Parts: sequence; structure tokens; C-alpha cells
Amino acid sequence: AQELLTVRGLRKYHRAAAGTVHAVDGVDFGIATGEVLGLVGESGCGKSTLGRTLNGLDAPEAGSIRFRGAELVGLGRRALRPHRREMQMVFQDPFGSLNPRDSIGTILQDPLRVHGLGTRAERRETAAALLERVGLRAADLDRYPHEFSGGQRQRISIARAIALRPRLVICDEAVSALDVSIQAQIVNLLRSLQVEFGLSYLFISHDLAVVGYLSDRIAVMYLGRIVEIGSKASLLRQPRHPYTRALFSALPGRGGSRADRQALRGEPPSPLNPPQGCRFHPRCPIAVERCRVEVPAMRELGDAHAAACHLAA
Ligand code: SF4
Ligand code: MG
Repeated sequence: AQELLTVRGLRKYHRAAAGTVHAVDGVDFGIATGEVLGLVGESGCGKSTLGRTLNGLDAPEAGSIRFRGAELVGLGRRALRPHRREMQMVFQDPFGSLNPRDSIGTILQDPLRVHGLGTRAERRETAAALLERVGLRAADLDRYPHEFSGGQRQRISIARAIALRPRLVICDEAVSALDVSIQAQIVNLLRSLQVEFGLSYLFISHDLAVVGYLSDRIAVMYLGRIVEIGSKASLLRQPRHPYTRALFSALPGRGGSRADRQALRGEPPSPLNPPQGCRFHPRCPIAVERCRVEVPAMRELGDAHAAACHLAA
């Protein structure tokens, strides 16, 4: 399939009082048209910063973001606008991202208005159709965010995200705040919208079970870097990076060796001063001397599967 998004050497740092946080520290990956790439990792690994940087909410220090053939890094707000129309975001907290003073109608019609699409009446009609498509009622247009449950608010956020018919939707912990039964409904909704509109997703979550359900490929992030990436089947069947194996072994119903389970006991080190060599070495159950000094390069393992580990052969 054709590549929709290609990211190379992306770096995004935050300046903090205590120093520089290396939130995204040299990330490469691509997303094909119609593909779902899952991005997993513990909280604080840089997943959200990566999503925000792709969407132009944060400006990167370095690297390239090619989207539909155009380089986005270095573009100003105005020049970014038509690209951002094609790349929408859904966040974890729909309460935070839906203005409580705006009616659902206003929330859904705003992006259409900003992009000059349709007349007032046409925008209202589009908004009503969007609401029905995500499982709510046209009459809900005149209600306000606080009148809806968490799952319903997430449906509204999704309706807003697809209002402009984007090509890529970045979902950042989009179902993480919801009850498990509601999570399944929202994931199913995302899946059916993907099929209907030929959408691609970057599906960011700390929850591997949810990512495993929706994704075609999975990327695993640790302390600002992608440490493993591959097809869902290959990655789930044969995770090659010790960090991925440790994450997987924590999943209910999956065995994993004792060493793997021990691996994630410690907290991730601070991205302020990431460890030298392999960043996972202080927590890695199979680390060798070389791991302390030499940064592991991404190694191709066949099957479009790659891992950044000296011992992944
Ligand atoms: Fe563990 Fe070394 Fe591989 Fe890093 S490079 S994951 S420390 S074995
Ligand atoms: Mg996050």
C-alpha cells in the first residue's frame, strides 16, 4: 500500500527547570493508506508528544514528517492548515477537548465553518448526519457536553474528528478512560469508520490488549524511541525486544518467562537523563556489557519486523 505518512529522525525536546526532556528522540516509521499503526509504551515514553508533534501542535527540534507527499516540518500555521484538515486527533479526555459552553451542534459545525465548507443549513445537516453515524441522535445537536456520558462524549469527539473527512486520525488513549464494555463499543465504532472512509489511524495507547485488537502493525516506544515495530501477527507471536516481551508478559492469559515479568518492576528512567547505550539496559533481564555503552541500531528481522536490541538476531 502507498505510504500516507513517513517520519524520519523526529526529535522533540521539552525544556524544564531540571534540564531538557528528550520526549521524542529520533523516531522513524511510516503509516500506509488505510492502515492502523498501534503505538504502545508506558506513560511518559513520549507517545503523546509524538502524536502532538505529527499533528503540528508541537514543533519538532529536528526530523522530517512527510504527509501525502508534502514535508510538514518547518511550515507555518497557515501553510499547515490544509494538511491538518487531513490529520485529526481524538484525545483521552473528551471533557477536556469539548468546550462545555458550546452545544454539540457548534462543536461539530465549527471545523466545517473554519474550513469554509457549506452553508449554515448544510453544515447543520452534515453535523446531524455525523451524530447519527456515531450512534447518537440528530436532536442531540442542541445539547451540551455535560449532558452526555463519557462514552457518548467520545463518540462526539470522533464525529468532530471525521467531520472534515481526514485521511489520518491520531487517537491518543482514546478509549483509556472508559469502562471496558464501552471501550469495546468505541473501538468497534473506530473500526467501522475506518472501513467506511478508508481511514488510517495512529492508535496510541498504554493498553496492549486494545492496541492488539485494532492494529495492523504495532510499534513499541521506550524513553523517546521506537524499540520494536512489526506486523501485529509477527509481533504478538514473536516479540523480539526484551521490553516488548516484558510488556506482553503482563497481559492476562499470556505466559512470559519469570525473567520477563521481573523486567518491568522498576520505573522507567527519567527522559531528562536517559541511560547511555541501550536505554532499556537498567531494567533489561538479559543485558550484557555492550548494552551499557553501545546504542543498539534497528535490525531488520524479516517480515517487516525490526527491533533495536544487540541480542535480537
Ligand atoms: Fe537488553 Fe541489551 Fe537488548 Fe538493550 S540491547 S534490550 S539492554 S539485551
Ligand atoms: Mg500520554
